[in-house]
Amino acid sequence: MDYVLEAGVVLEFDNQALAVSRQGQHFPISGSCAPIRDEQSAVVGVVFVFRNITERVRAEQRLQLLAETSQLLVASLDYQENLIGLANLLTPDFAEWCTIDVVSNGPAIRRLVRAIGASLHGALRGDDTVEVETDPQTVQGPAFVIRSGRAVLYPHIDNALLADLADDQQKLHAQGLLETLLCVPLMVRGGTLGSISFGRTANSKAFDDDDVVFAEELARRAALAVDNALLYREAQEAIKARDTFLSIAAHELKTPLTSLLGYADLVRRRTQAGLPIGEREQRGLSVVVEQARRLNRMVTSLLDLSRIQTGQLSIDQRPVDLSTLVRRISEEVSPTLMMHTLVHAVPDEAVLMIGDELRLEQVLQNLLQNAAKYSPHGSTIRLRMEVVDNWACISVADQGLGIPNEALPRIFNRFYRAPNAAQQVSGMGVGLFVVRQIVELHGGRIEVQSKEGMGSTFFVWLPLQAEHAYGTASGSSSCAAGCAAW
Ligand code: ADP
Repeated sequence: MDYVLEAGVVLEFDNQALAVSRQGQHFPISGSCAPIRDEQSAVVGVVFVFRNITERVRAEQRLQLLAETSQLLVASLDYQENLIGLANLLTPDFAEWCTIDVVSNGPAIRRLVRAIGASLHGALRGDDTVEVETDPQTVQGPAFVIRSGRAVLYPHIDNALLADLADDQQKLHAQGLLETLLCVPLMVRGGTLGSISFGRTANSKAFDDDDVVFAEELARRAALAVDNALLYREAQEAIKARDTFLSIAAHELKTPLTSLLGYADLVRRRTQAGLPIGEREQRGLSVVVEQARRLNRMVTSLLDLSRIQTGQLSIDQRPVDLSTLVRRISEEVSPTLMMHTLVHAVPDEAVLMIGDELRLEQVLQNLLQNAAKYSPHGSTIRLRMEVVDNWACISVADQGLGIPNEALPRIFNRFYRAPNAAQQVSGMGVGLFVVRQIVELHGGRIEVQSKEGMGSTFFVWLPLQAEHAYGTASGSSSCAAGCAAW
C-alpha cells in the first residue's frame, strides 16, 4: 500500500496472500491495489480489489498432483511399489488417511497399503503395509465399492463403518479422529481390481463432489497402471512358459529319435552286409515302430495344441458305438504293454452317441498311455465303461504315482506337469489339455480322483443324447477355448 501511495502505480498480486474468513479459516486471494487520485492527480488513497481464488488454487494443486501421480505410476513395473508410492503421495495433501485394497486370488480382499498423515501418527502406527483381509461381503466401505464398482462418499464414519474398514486392531484409536471417508473403485476393462479409500479428520474440509471426481480420476490412472503391470507380468510369464516348453518339447522329440535311428542303422548295416535279420534286429525293428508311434503321438498333440490355440480344432459328428470303441482300444493297447495288465469292463450292448470316433480314440489312448507311463513299476490298469442316466462314464484307473492334492486342479492346464511326475517321467504337459478340449467339444467333461502314491482314476463323461452331442448346426463343432497366445 505504501508503495502504491508513493509510486502512484497499480499493483497486481496473485496467490501471494492469505486472507482469514470470519470463521477463522485462511484462504488464498489475488487482486490489485490501485491509487486514488484527486483532481490535481495527487495520490490521496488506495483501493484494494480482492478475489477469493481457493477454487483456482485447488484446481492447480489437483492438476499438479495428477501429474505427479501419473509420473509415479509409470516409474516402475512393480505395481505394489507404485501403489504404496501413490498412497504416500496423497497423504496428507488429499487426505490424512489412505488405504488401497486389492482383490486377491482367494475370496478375501487384501489390504495392500495404508498411509497416514502426521495428524494421525499419534493414534495409528505409520506402517506402509498392513496386511489385513476383508470379508468381501461387508455391506459398506472398500469391499462394497469393489463389489458395486462405484464410488461412495461417507460424510460421517460411524462405528459400523469403522469395523468394515478392517484396519488393524488399533482402528479403535482412530475412532473420532477420522470424520469422512471416500472410497473409489480401481476399475479396468470392466472389472474391479480393488479400491482406494481416503479419510479426512474433523479438522479438514469434508469431501465434496469435486473430490469425488478427482479421486475417480486418480483411481482410473492407478487402475490403468496396475493393469499394464499385470499384463506385462503375464506376458513375461507366457514367454518364460513358451521357452521352457520349447526346450522340453525339443528334448522329448529327440529322445525317441535317438533309439529309432540307432536301431534303424543297425538293421541297415546288417542288410547291407548281406546278413540275415535275426531276433535282435527284429526286436530293434519293434523299437523303431514303437518310437515312431511315440513321435507321431507327440507331433499330433503339438498340432492339436496349435489348432486349439487358433480355435481350429474341430470334431466330426457321426454315430459312434462307445462299447465297440472301448473294447477295440483295450484289445489293441493290451499287447503293447510290457509291464502292465489291462483289464476292461464294458457293456455288451451298443452305447451310441454322436461324436468323432478318431478323437475319442485319441482321448482313451492318451489316458491309457498316461496310466502306463505314470505306473513305472507296472501294475493293473482298469478300463471301464458304465451308462449313468443319459451319460456314458468311461474310467481309466491305475495304481501308479498318483497326483499330489495341490496339483489336481492344474493337471488339465497347458504345459503343467505335477512335481512328482516331472521328477521321474518325461512328458510335455500337453496331452491332458488336448484331451479335455476334445471331451468338452463332445459336450462332456473329464474328472480325476487321485492320491499321491496311490494311483489315479480319470473319468470321461460323454452325453448320449443327440442334443448334447451336437455342437453346431454345421455338423462339426470347433474349439473356442480362447487360449492366450504364447
Ligand atoms: P505329460 O504326461 O506329457 O506330462 P499330460 O498332459 O498327459 O502331459 O499330463 C499332465 C500331468 O498330469 C502329468 O505331467 C502328470 O503330472 C499328471 N498325470 C497325468 N496322468 C497321470 C496319471 N495317470 N498318474 C499320475 N499323474 C498323471
